[in-house]
Amino acid sequence: MIHTKTLKELSALLQSKEISATELATHYLDRIEASDLNAFLHVDRALTLAQAADADARIAAGNAHPLTGVPIAHKDIFVTRGWRSTAGSKMLADYVSPFDATVVEKLHAAGMVHLGKLNCDEFAMGSSNENSAFGAVKNPWDTAAVPGGSSGGSAAAVAARLAPAVTGTDTGGSIRQPASFCGITGIKPTYGRVSRFGMIAFASSLDQGGPMAQTAEDCALLLSAMAGFDERDSTSLTPEQGGVHEDFSRNLNEPLTGLRIGVPKEYFGAGLATDVEQAVRAALDQFVKLGATLVDISLPNTALSIPAYYMIAPAEASSNLSRFDGVRYGFRAEGYKDLQDMYKKTRAQGFGPEVKRRIMVGTYVLCHGYYDAYYVKAQKIRRLIADDFAKVLSGPDAVCDVIMGPVAPTVAWDLGSKADDPVANYLADIFTLSTSLAGLPGMSIPVGFGQGDKNANRPVGLQIIGNYFAEAKLLNVAHQYQQATDWHKRAPAGI
Ligand code: GLN
Repeated sequence: MIHTKTLKELSALLQSKEISATELATHYLDRIEASDLNAFLHVDRALTLAQAADADARIAAGNAHPLTGVPIAHKDIFVTRGWRSTAGSKMLADYVSPFDATVVEKLHAAGMVHLGKLNCDEFAMGSSNENSAFGAVKNPWDTAAVPGGSSGGSAAAVAARLAPAVTGTDTGGSIRQPASFCGITGIKPTYGRVSRFGMIAFASSLDQGGPMAQTAEDCALLLSAMAGFDERDSTSLTPEQGGVHEDFSRNLNEPLTGLRIGVPKEYFGAGLATDVEQAVRAALDQFVKLGATLVDISLPNTALSIPAYYMIAPAEASSNLSRFDGVRYGFRAEGYKDLQDMYKKTRAQGFGPEVKRRIMVGTYVLCHGYYDAYYVKAQKIRRLIADDFAKVLSGPDAVCDVIMGPVAPTVAWDLGSKADDPVANYLADIFTLSTSLAGLPGMSIPVGFGQGDKNANRPVGLQIIGNYFAEAKLLNVAHQYQQATDWHKRAPAGI
């Protein structure tokens, strides 16, 4: 079964010509067509097969990159030539970009074959994928459950083996939390490492793209091709700032002897479900067997990450989304009286309820009279949160090399169960938001399942957080765990 193979394995089969890029793309396209998870929003067989033919020619000519011919699918936040780019919104339902996002361009340059665009929460706002204008995605492990969000289509596609590799974006957890809910591996890099050019903006000071796949080894290969300075993104890290090209696979095999793992007490408090806690603690025990030591730490401002994030992210969103006015891109309402009326009707009809809620919250916290009380205060809290991490991770007084804890307080919840309760969704982001506010890299790896009739088939993810630029370390730590365990090899029944 070719689709159960990892990216690394597929790469070897392609290079040795045991399989062609065209056969591989056809196999995945057939699987996507037969799937009813609603993970994909746009597939175009002819476009994909043309890229596969190019990849086969490149392999035949002997100048292939290790990723040449390996299929990939992109979250519909990345703009793509040829395929529609909707951001999960009615506002962009028919939008086709005239250019590719940098990430798409880089992976295409490596020879990866694009399978299509993946469903997500509208403008990446959400934790369950239920905010997509094109319907929810089902979790392949349990179709009654959400796949997580906002990169829900991305995570579901890898879990269901509809694609060996996908891209995601993470503003406050959207790579890590769906990876956790779908039992796959994903990494959010240090802010500024992966170009935001062509990533439809949600909250520009937080948005960061990254890879999702079955294994840490695969994520390392993908990240090596995705990351790097991009002059078209003003917040992209320059080489002087550390935005240098890195081979993120270089130290995957280093042993973990002496690794100090910080375990924050705030991540194991009252809100954490027992089944998630048990799976996470068992993973920590496994790391101890691998030679690591556990260090109790405190990140005292963790709880403030929710109010701070849910002011800063909407504030930036309210500004970013002002471009969707019916004039410049996509949807325009019909039957308007004048320009003002056209704006109003377009935005009223084009945006879904969560996006409107955030535009209103964001506009409110930025307005004169409330700016100091809310927005400036949230920015100060953001600094305190970054300082919490710096105290334990940086400098000569650092007490740990990485931090570990749960990704989310519970396993995936039932579709529909929190759909009308935005605050319940926001609270579930408690363990991922602070990493984003600090701009630190974080990843999720599968470490077990929930318990009881309902949760026994719903995966649990372990979050691994590191200092700025510690991606290679995180991937090394995750890879060593995956060499010793097989959670990442499990697939939903019937795959
Ligand atoms: N769940 C968070 C939100 O709704 C994070 C989303 C994201 O990372 N894109 O904003």
